[in-house]
Amino acid sequence: MVVRQADEARIYVLSVTTTPKAWRRTSEMAKDCTRIRTALGLHPELAHERHAELPLFEALLPQTRYVGEVGLDGSPDLKPHAQIQRKVFKTVLKLSSRQGGRVLSIHSRRASDEVLECLRAEPDAGTPILHWFSGSQAQLRRAIDQGCWFSVGLPMSRSDRGRALLASLPRDRVLTETDGPFAQEGNRAVKPSDVSGMADALSSVWNVSASEVRNQLATNLRRLTAYALDTSRQVVPRAGAAVA
Ligand SMILES: [Zn+2]
Repeated sequence: MVVRQADEARIYVLSVTTTPKAWRRTSEMAKDCTRIRTALGLHPELAHERHAELPLFEALLPQTRYVGEVGLDGSPDLKPHAQIQRKVFKTVLKLSSRQGGRVLSIHSRRASDEVLECLRAEPDAGTPILHWFSGSQAQLRRAIDQGCWFSVGLPMSRSDRGRALLASLPRDRVLTETDGPFAQEGNRAVKPSDVSGMADALSSVWNVSASEVRNQLATNLRRLTAYALDTSRQVVPRAGAAVA
């Protein structure tokens, strides 16, 4: 139903998965919707349970231009799994690089520095989009310098800290996200159509009209999609590139 509603509202959706095993089924659900793309993911919170699915990730990667969710999570309860998280994320970046680059939706909660380090080590992994970025202003500047994009959702607009981050984003590298169905709005799961409220929030933080924000977001999405579909990058490995 969420798929149909999003399609009818003509919303472009990047739906992310948390495990490689979930990808085939999830992408199957959206196969008739031209505005929905399904990213292949291995979520950092599941890395320690699902790292054995890395070979499946590798096998499926040629079928999609989008990877997510992947990344690192430095929350205290996940500390014991930091090493396996890092191994999974580094492998995902290396594989994406070998495939000529992917659009990557990246989770970086309490791990912004480590995520940026890993990205720096694999500059050909693709276009990284930091989803729900919650680092410091200094980490944000570093992420901007490293070419990161940002996907932002309504909860970020509800705290002073979040609004300060939104104000500092490069406007030509911003997309909106819901983090649904995990995120909640009131007492229901967030739906793709809830992103429209985010355009209003950005309009107030950036001090431009909501229609200007929508135009900017649409332009950004076109640029990102053009990058994703650029098949000239799909010739791999690059001449001279060392593939370990
Ligand atoms: Zn996440």
